[in-house]
Amino acid sequence: MITGDIGCYGLGGAEPLNAMDTSICMGASISMGHGAQQAFSRINSVMRTVGVIGDSTFFHTGINSLMQVVYNHSKTVTCILDNRITGMTGHQENPGTGFTLQGAPTKIIDIETVVKALGVDHVRVVNPLELQEVTDAFDWALALDEPSVIITRWPCVLKKHSEQDKQEFGNYRGLCQVDVTKCVGCKSCLKTGCPALRFNKASKTVIIDDSQCTGCKVCAQVCPVGAINKVGE
Ligand code: SF4
Ligand code: SF4
Repeated sequence: MITGDIGCYGLGGAEPLNAMDTSICMGASISMGHGAQQAFSRINSVMRTVGVIGDSTFFHTGINSLMQVVYNHSKTVTCILDNRITGMTGHQENPGTGFTLQGAPTKIIDIETVVKALGVDHVRVVNPLELQEVTDAFDWALALDEPSVIITRWPCVLKKHSEQDKQEFGNYRGLCQVDVTKCVGCKSCLKTGCPALRFNKASKTVIIDDSQCTGCKVCAQVCPVGAINKVGE
């Protein structure tokens, strides 16, 4: 069961792209997941819960919920999507970005440090663009019988990068293209939900909209025939 929260990750659209089972209010991903996990465990169900929450929402109302998870011996997996900004409501700064709402430099509150301070012993920080790294992290977390946290750390593509972002993430932007002579039209890449990918009904192949692609290579990782390649930096 995936308990969602309020943020851009909840705007994935209609099924099957919206993976959240619930979306109630800020912070509810962790606390609802905790309650559901307690109920599942009580009836000896193998069902597990994953709470998905953004970085700014975690600072706003997720910290207290995660503390209760630890305090009550829950075994939920909490996934904190740290895109280095407050995405959905318009890129406001938050305690993790290094700037105040007025744009003045300030201390960065490090999510990993906060999570460990709350008593979570199992924490991993992953690059969400590396799909195998993410899969491995979930396999690791779901095998545990204690609370765990996976922090996916990568800046929002719309964010104006700070000097710290440039140092940490470098200039990753570029462009990918589909080799239509290789594409078999399986549509696996479309399941990533990337809006830059389009299916051409006439040719039965996928094309990439240059104006929307950032060259992240997520679609290339799921293509079974290696038809997608990065062509520009
Ligand atoms: S490389 Fe990334 S941004 Fe470009 S089409 Fe593929 S998934 Fe979308
Ligand atoms: S995953 Fe590869 S082969 Fe399948 S539709 Fe996309 S580009 Fe074509």
